[in-house]
Amino acid sequence: MTAKRIDGKAAAQAVRDRVAAHVPEFERRAGRPPGLATVLVGEDPASAVYVRSKNRATAEAAMASFAHNLPDTTTEDELLQLVLDLNADERVDGILVQLPLPNQIDAARVIATIDPSKDVDGFHAINAGRLATGLDALVPCTPLGCLHLLRSELGDLSGLNAVVVGRSNIVGKPMALLLLGEHATVTIAHSRTRDLSEVVRRADIVVAAVGRPEMVRGDWIKPGATVIDVGINRVPTDDGKGRLVGDVAYDEVAEVASAITPVPGGVGPMTIAMLMRNTLVAAHRRAGFEDPEGL
Ligand code: NDP
Repeated sequence: MTAKRIDGKAAAQAVRDRVAAHVPEFERRAGRPPGLATVLVGEDPASAVYVRSKNRATAEAAMASFAHNLPDTTTEDELLQLVLDLNADERVDGILVQLPLPNQIDAARVIATIDPSKDVDGFHAINAGRLATGLDALVPCTPLGCLHLLRSELGDLSGLNAVVVGRSNIVGKPMALLLLGEHATVTIAHSRTRDLSEVVRRADIVVAAVGRPEMVRGDWIKPGATVIDVGINRVPTDDGKGRLVGDVAYDEVAEVASAITPVPGGVGPMTIAMLMRNTLVAAHRRAGFEDPEGL
């Protein structure tokens, strides 16, 4: 079997188009467009690329984009003050502080300072707790994007065996909670899991969020499984430029799985699309409107 290659770029564009279609109506009712503030501290090249893409996507959806680029000497107090100012700014519906932050800044304090109603990354403990208890929450963008792809691919996930490899607060844990919310039977694997390949072989759905290049091999996969590769790893190449690979050995796994996301072009574009979605949802909730339909 050669697996279907799940086109995350196309799926992401469809979500972004649907978000953009809601913006004029929101603006008419609220008297202003939805707004996203991004905060980049320092000059990490990968972070700068991500933040630029996020600002571009915001502008493309005709939402207001407020970009704050701070030097890597920024103190924690200065960053916390900026977050407080953004919390108070009525034009801002979403606040995204790009991680990682320089060493002198405690990321947990910064996240805890963001108004949960503007926490479009879904990292605040209030949103994490709401997700865990089954309440409406702003959900982290990457696992939300993975869920969207899985639902599009498989429809009903009820009763399927799902194995999430990785238990970070950003990807693994919220992914597992989302799958549980869909009534999948969920296993969370991590670096202490015994017989990982055996655990993964039981899965109808595999989500790999580890950060280890091509760790998940073809012979770990149950024939016909659906595989979502969250990993983004740069590996060296002869020309010195390096290339991006996921946590899944794509060519091997594609021989066994029924569908698989590529890296790049799978989960990555969905993350930005879901950030746009979360900003639109946050704007509606803050304005006291019903959630936008069809997202
Ligand atoms: P973290 O480093 O925070 O978490 C990695 C997880 O993998 C941990 O739970 C760790 O277990 C587990 N792990 C590490 N080694 C092994 C192993 N040998 N076997 C089993 N489990 C292992 O990473 P993130 O969750 O933030 O990110 C994971 C990957 O996803 C990275 O490649 C990252 O770049 C990518 N990513 C991609 C995004 C996108 O938009 N596509 C967005 C966010 C992340 P333990 O807890 O025991 O240490």
